[in-house]
Amino acid sequence: MQIAMLAVGDELVDGRFVDTNSQTLARSLARIGHTLREIRVVRDEPGAMRLALDDLGARHEHLFVSGGLGITRDDLTRAVVADWLGEGLVEDSIGVEAIKTKLEERGGRFTEELRGHALRPGSSTGIPNFTGLALGFSAHHAVLAVTVHVLPGVPHELVPMCDWVVGRLQTGMRRQRLLRVQDLTERDVEQRLRTVTIPAEVTLGLVALSGPIELSLTRYDGDEAGLDALAEEVSALFEAHLVGVDTTLERRIAQQLTQRGETLATAESCTGGLLASLITDVPGSSVFFLEGVVSYANASKIARLGVAAETLERFGAVSPQTVGEMAQGVRLALGADWSVATSGIAGPTGGTASKPVGRVYFAVAGPSGTTHDERTWAGRTREVVKRHAAAHALLLLSRAIAAAE
Ligand code: ATP
Ligand code: MG
Repeated sequence: MQIAMLAVGDELVDGRFVDTNSQTLARSLARIGHTLREIRVVRDEPGAMRLALDDLGARHEHLFVSGGLGITRDDLTRAVVADWLGEGLVEDSIGVEAIKTKLEERGGRFTEELRGHALRPGSSTGIPNFTGLALGFSAHHAVLAVTVHVLPGVPHELVPMCDWVVGRLQTGMRRQRLLRVQDLTERDVEQRLRTVTIPAEVTLGLVALSGPIELSLTRYDGDEAGLDALAEEVSALFEAHLVGVDTTLERRIAQQLTQRGETLATAESCTGGLLASLITDVPGSSVFFLEGVVSYANASKIARLGVAAETLERFGAVSPQTVGEMAQGVRLALGADWSVATSGIAGPTGGTASKPVGRVYFAVAGPSGTTHDERTWAGRTREVVKRHAAAHALLLLSRAIAAAE
């Protein structure tokens, strides 16, 4: 979202005051993940204000204006903005009532000239002033395709009004789709993304989560259908690497298994229970998840999972053979339909030439046999290797379940 701020006031350019309203706005926006793209300060002078409105309005989707909303002679913002929109000013009757109520509460007297605080361009919507009298307003400039939000200059009035507008920006028009892809590097993802045109209204985000990569498509104009169409187009880029839209692998697995009434058990070595933890993050996982065994020592692999001592001796604990027997063993012991096992060298030590640090072996056992896979996440920390491995185990499991459908 392209957002700019225009602070209006002689006092801001002649050294009497520093513009802190932009800071207020920027901080408010930061809370919803946005930043101001530009801040401009101009005098209380219609020509300068018009130039700034035209220029900033043409290049942004939202333009905040502060200052000059009062009823003294130097307060010109209402008239200048209305003129810029090609509209006249109308009196907001709810705004006038609010002014009267406030004055009553404070023991002040209503005078006709105070009505000026409730004037706004005909097509605009009012922004309530929680502490002062001057009504703010938001209006859309159709030709420049910009929404202008006009607020008072007095900081204690502007602060809550600013939060009010920003809060509506977030909940009112914000639409987002989260796409997760896996088993691709960030570079792969970026390269594939280059082949689609992301419209200017859409903000694209990309976050690598040590395992899945999360792509966010966000737009602030409420266009749900446009966003869905784009999400579909982007999804197609990733084929089998796509985990899903607005879902996670663990949720997808939960769905798959719950629908089929099948069960799952895990046997983890190097992931140390992370896999079971991810699975049990999903509410309702008790329906299908029977048990997760964290099996580190060889003795445990033999006693709990039925791995043959000979297998461990011949191929080692970190091997396709051992991980296969781990998966089969836990499946058999629990009578589960599916099982998944991990064994690897998370580091930082323990690697060899043939089995370097970061190497992880996987096995998925199911109704029609056992499938194997291996990956090496070189140069990563122990924690990152564990996360990648747990995420990859979920991917293999989900694919195996899907293939058995
Ligand atoms: P009023 O009804 O008091 O005239 P207003 O909305 O017209 O309110 P201004 O006249 O522009 O606001 O400014 C009132 C006072 O608010 C200024 O004298 C200054 O102290 C403060 N102010 C205005 N703009 C800013 C700003 N951008 N940052 C910090 N303070 C500001
Ligand atoms: Mg003023």
